[in-house]
Formats: sequence, structure tokens, C-alpha cells
Amino acid sequence: IIDARDVHKRFGSLEVLKGITLQVERGQVACLLGPSGSGKSTFLRCINHLEKIDAGMIRVAGRTVGYEERNGKLYELREKDVASQRRGVGMVFQRFNLFPHMTALENIIEAPMQVRGTSRAAAKERAAELLNRVGLGDKAGAYPSALSGGQQQRIAIARALAMDPEVMLFDEPTSALDPELVGDVLDVMRDLAASGMTMIVVTHEIGFAREVGDVAVFMDGGVVVEQGRPADVLVNPREARTQAFLAKVL
Ligand code: ATP
Ligand code: MG
Repeated sequence: IIDARDVHKRFGSLEVLKGITLQVERGQVACLLGPSGSGKSTFLRCINHLEKIDAGMIRVAGRTVGYEERNGKLYELREKDVASQRRGVGMVFQRFNLFPHMTALENIIEAPMQVRGTSRAAAKERAAELLNRVGLGDKAGAYPSALSGGQQQRIAIARALAMDPEVMLFDEPTSALDPELVGDVLDVMRDLAASGMTMIVVTHEIGFAREVGDVAVFMDGGVVVEQGRPADVLVNPREARTQAFLAKVL
């Protein structure tokens, strides 16, 4: 469902992605690991067209990101069509990015109402379901400032799910959390994976990657150094760079 081929991205003279190729099948969880600056966040942002790629191609659910096909030719999408394409991809960041002046419930119903024209009643009903799903059924009326980081992150996941994405991208969703709050967020992600959601998860939680991941991808310096089953890549890596990285995070 995600098909990235030879993706290149540079910021000025800095080439951050030097030909990333990665396929993720529907329902699979791909865990992306690698040192700081290796291009993990940039790659996720390219999948969501928050960054425009310089070369290569990314397709999500059969559609080329940032382009539409007419008469066998690719045409660049206008900004408003990019936004509509982006709706199929949910994204959760390291920092939870909730709207601080809105309650948990209001955060979740905002996009379905504004962007999709869902009625307030229908959006609220769905939000209540999602709040239960992330274990926060009793927090509908709470403002972000009254929630722990882990609770905020679970609201952020519910908010992304409210748009019924086909794919979810997670960029180090637990790395800003106190250790005791990490487990609840990983549990929600584990359930989501079990429900069949296609996910790319940038994480250094090796246990999660081994248990939930179908594929582990190790990136360094803008290239995929090694990818394969988590039990291989994370336990018996072939490449020296992967070994050195794992020795540091474990
Ligand atoms: P981390 O583990 O620290 O989050 P990362 O693997 O996610 O790292 P990226 O955030 O993708 O790495 O950054 C890769 C490189 O691209 C870094 O050298 C970074 O400074 C650079 N970079 C990222 N975004 C921009 C930007 N908007 N403008 C210029 N340089 C950028
Ligand atoms: Mg990053």
C-alpha cells in the first residue's frame, strides 16, 4: 500500500535522502530505526507530502503522492488537492500538537467537521468511540494542559484516526514521554496494529519493534542500510552500522 522508490530529498546542499526504496503491504507494520539525522522524519514527511521530493516516487494506496494521473500522464497537484490526498494518511508526532484551547473531544471532532463536513453529532459519536478505544473515555472534556503526556499522545492518535486514514505514520511517538507513560501509548499502537492498520513507526523501542513490527528498517546517512524481519535485523544484524547502533540503544 506504500511504495517508495529511489526517493531523494535535499535541503540546499545537504542531501538528506539518497535513494530510499521501501514497500509496506496493507496491514503491515514497518519500524524505522536509525541515528539522529539519518533522515527518518524527513522520509515520513515526504510520504505525507509535508516535504516535496526531488527525485523518485512515492505511491500510497495506488496514488502518487503530490501528483494525479490523467490520460497516463502525471500532473502536479494543487495545494488543496494535496490536502485532500493527505487525509488518507494519519500522522502522529513526537510532540503531541493538540490544540491547547480545545478539549480532548473538540480536538478529535475538529478535522472531521471542518474538512469532511461530518455533522457535529456524528463526529461526537465517533470521537466517543475513539476515546474509549485509546482508554480515555472519561477525558472527553479535559483540556490538554490537564492531561499527562501519554494521555495527550493517545488523544493525538484518536484525532488522527478520526479521519479514517488508510495508513498511520508515527514519528517517535513515545520519545518525549516519561518512561512510565510509554507503555499505555505502545498498547494503543499494538491494538491498532492488531486491528489491521498499516503503520510506519519511527521508534527506538526495540521491544515494540520486535513484537509488533513485520519489517524493521535501519536507516543511516539517508540510505536504507538493512531491512528485513525484526527478529533478524534487530537481533542478528548483518551490517556493522546496524550492530553499532543497536549496541547503543539497547
Ligand atoms: P532524529 O532521530 O534526530 O529525529 P531524523 O532521522 O528524523 O533524526 P531528520 O529530521 O529527517 O532526521 O533530518 C535529517 C537531516 O536533514 C538533518 O541533518 C537535519 O538537520 C536536516 N533537515 C531536516 N529538515 C530540514 C529543513 N527543513 N531544512 C534544512 N535541513 C533540514
Ligand atoms: Mg526525527
